[in-house]
Amino acid sequence: MSHVVAAPAPVEIPVAGTQQTFPVRRVYCVGRNYVEHAKEMGFTGREPPFFFMKPADALVVVPEGSTGVMPYPARTSDLHHEIELVAAIGKGGRNIAAADAHAHVWGYAIGLDMTRRDLQGEAKKQGRPWEVGKAFDHSGPIGPIHPASATGHYEKGAISLEVNGATRQSSDISLLIWSVAETIEHLSSLFELMPGDLIFTGTPEGVAAVGRGDLLVGKVAGLGELRVKID
Ligand code: MN
Repeated sequence: MSHVVAAPAPVEIPVAGTQQTFPVRRVYCVGRNYVEHAKEMGFTGREPPFFFMKPADALVVVPEGSTGVMPYPARTSDLHHEIELVAAIGKGGRNIAAADAHAHVWGYAIGLDMTRRDLQGEAKKQGRPWEVGKAFDHSGPIGPIHPASATGHYEKGAISLEVNGATRQSSDISLLIWSVAETIEHLSSLFELMPGDLIFTGTPEGVAAVGRGDLLVGKVAGLGELRVKID
């Protein structure tokens, strides 16, 4: 058998310090998962986590030591940065208990959940899906995956984002409303997780717009930095 059109290229993320890669299956994202970010978006309290997705081929894979390039997307004038810790699933499962969840995480990366905030806002207002705001091409810059065997599992640790050298977002993983483990518990009750799945765990407060020529530098303690230029 042969393909009738060109098969899409597999999406792979380099594993830090190795020649190996992490093949991506699905990209899940958690909405409003830090209290101060929930507040800045007009919400309060600990609502149950909710999820959306990006296509795997919307990722912009940024190898170690290089600066990724994200083209400024079409149809927006309010492109926002959201710096996030990303958990990479190594072992799948359904209805995973939070207490067992870390055993399902192969590693961690730094990611940016780039958002066309104007289109997302319009979708919210109309009660429409979020894809045009969240799942557009090049909307997910991501750095190399660091194995959990080297970093440990994330329950705390500094997370920050600078734009052109000025700090825009600065928080700590311990301030997640739903921890990585609790997020996996909720998500795996809705979808069967599989090896290769990524989970963008949510962004802290300080989201704001970027423009062409801006340099974004995201950091999570223990994961180095993610450098992305908006073109
Ligand atoms: Mn986000």
